Amino acid sequence: APTATSITSKDGRPKKLPKRMVLGKDGKPCRSCNSFADFTSQKKLITKGAIASGPPSDCPPDVEQLGRSSWTLLHSITATYPTNPSTSEQRNVSQFMGLFSKIYPCWVCAEDFQEFMAKNQVRVESRDAFGKWMCEAHNEVNRKLGKTEFDCSKWEERWRTGWKD
Ligand code: FAD
Repeated sequence: APTATSITSKDGRPKKLPKRMVLGKDGKPCRSCNSFADFTSQKKLITKGAIASGPPSDCPPDVEQLGRSSWTLLHSITATYPTNPSTSEQRNVSQFMGLFSKIYPCWVCAEDFQEFMAKNQVRVESRDAFGKWMCEAHNEVNRKLGKTEFDCSKWEERWRTGWKD
């Protein structure tokens, strides 16, 4: 992904950026592609409290907030998907996933997700297949970010039925 160590500020002088800052397609720091910590350090708003508690809930989302909300929506869609979907229900979710991967606001995330979808066609023939496919898609991102993989045999407990006692 395009990153930069400096950008030109409004007064024409180069402005130093944090090492991992991902830029938007407009060449400016991309809020939904970076963590709050990286973004705020660029904006010189670092206060220990702000970074520790994450972005305020009434601010535009960073890459993590956007991700958590999006996974909640995606897994919830699989949880309410029919066990035996009609042809049109299958077509609808296939189209939705294709469009979702194109318009996801973190463009670097979107490009990787499109690549994953090109190699792993979305499975929509049943709730179980769709739920497991989504779990695998999420695990692909988990691996990329060095997070623990989720046990996909438990996707329904996490997102539909609640945990067994
Ligand atoms: P999340 O990963 O958001 O997970 C939320 C909850 O889902 C977890 O607490 C857990 O209970 C459950 N869960 C975890 N894994 C699974 C699974 N495999 N199946 C079912 N449930 C699960 N961030 C980046 O920095 N770079 C990226 O390239 C990037 N790409 C993304 C692509 C997409 C399509 C999406 C939706 C998000 C992407 N993100 C990316 C955001 C990233 O995946 C996380 O959402 C973000 O880092 C916050 O992580 P989290 O630890 O709070 O939990």
